[in-house]
Amino acid sequence: MAAMTSTARPHLNRRLAEFGTTIFAEMSALAQSTGSINLGQGFPDTDGPEEIREAAVRALRDGRGNQYPPGPGVPELRTAVAAHQLRRYGLSYDPDTEVLVTAGATEAIAASLLALLEPGDEVVALEPYYDSYAASIAMAGGRRVPVTLRPHDGAFRLDLDELRAAVTDRTRLLLLNTPHNPTGTVLTRAELAAVAELAVERNLLVVTDEVYEHLVFDDAEHIPLATFPGMRERTVTIGSAGKTYSFTGWKVGWVTAAPELVSAVRSAKQFLTYVASGPFQYAVAEALALPDSYLDDFRRDMLARRDILAEGLTAAGFAVFRPAGTYFITTDISPLGEKDGFAFCRSLPERAGVVAIPNAVFYDDRAAGAPYVRFAFCKRKGVIEAAIERLSELRKR
Ligand SMILES: *Cc1c(COP(=O)(O)O)cnc(C)c1O
Repeated sequence: MAAMTSTARPHLNRRLAEFGTTIFAEMSALAQSTGSINLGQGFPDTDGPEEIREAAVRALRDGRGNQYPPGPGVPELRTAVAAHQLRRYGLSYDPDTEVLVTAGATEAIAASLLALLEPGDEVVALEPYYDSYAASIAMAGGRRVPVTLRPHDGAFRLDLDELRAAVTDRTRLLLLNTPHNPTGTVLTRAELAAVAELAVERNLLVVTDEVYEHLVFDDAEHIPLATFPGMRERTVTIGSAGKTYSFTGWKVGWVTAAPELVSAVRSAKQFLTYVASGPFQYAVAEALALPDSYLDDFRRDMLARRDILAEGLTAAGFAVFRPAGTYFITTDISPLGEKDGFAFCRSLPERAGVVAIPNAVFYDDRAAGAPYVRFAFCKRKGVIEAAIERLSELRKR
């Protein structure tokens, strides 16, 4: 056994060793120190509706949620989530047994995996994947098996044969994300039907991250996987107020699923945060009850920003994958004579005063993600325009 030295070294266990630092911290620090425009991290630079902020203030003043709220979430919010799923998708959930409020989608993902995986279970997840997936699978002792979305006709597409081939006897669950961050892909009805068929045939659970459900553009349509035959009883659907209502700091998310699944996820959740975001839960209940015109305006506004950024990036020489959903644009930097997204993003603040994220951080197969770089358009139009102006310098070199 190695001798202990007198200076204790902080050390991260083997499960998490590969997740020591995040690119977001590095890039945001770089944005700060260079005075760059930060199109890296995906949070809006404008807060959500005034009336919803006021609802939070009211809850706080009236003493609602200032002490531990109920473990499953306040009844008002659970009822509002159930009403939203029914109104938008025809999915009926019992607010008492089939809805669980979480500390954002992040906790919902972690709690679902901690509750549903046995050590060594395989989890098939779309690659590139949201950064918390790999860490949450690892914390749960699972093994991730990525299925890579590949560029095809200007979009990143799921190869259903590859998905089928990734499922083995050790696969416990599929971890899906649609609309998909960072590619902007929205899975089609036909793709989702094939995923559902596979899940039923191989008796898999599915955890589906639908935090961008209301950010779909053009002809794309968000269809919850739980609406497909045989899926309601095996699907854990995850939603969040952060992206839809532009309150990412409130950390109010939720899970909808069959009672046995919700109760399993709740068992894990109660020892993570137990509860969170008391007063904000009441405010989000009101947000979910806003008329659909809020969602229509939100989508139209984000669509306009997408188009401004997409055109600007194209003009600056990037190959642009126009997203069908989310508030991210993935680009290919090859036309600029660049190959390595990491090096490109590290030099971009110096070269152009803009921060972006190399998609390779979302891949196990870093080479597959090397030429892709992600920009966020959940920023004020003036900020996006200023970034484009700066990026147009890249061509003049
Ligand atoms: C932002 C994001 C989350 C995290 O949502 P929170 O509610 O802030 O925890 C989860 N999944 C995806 C794909 C995201 O982009």
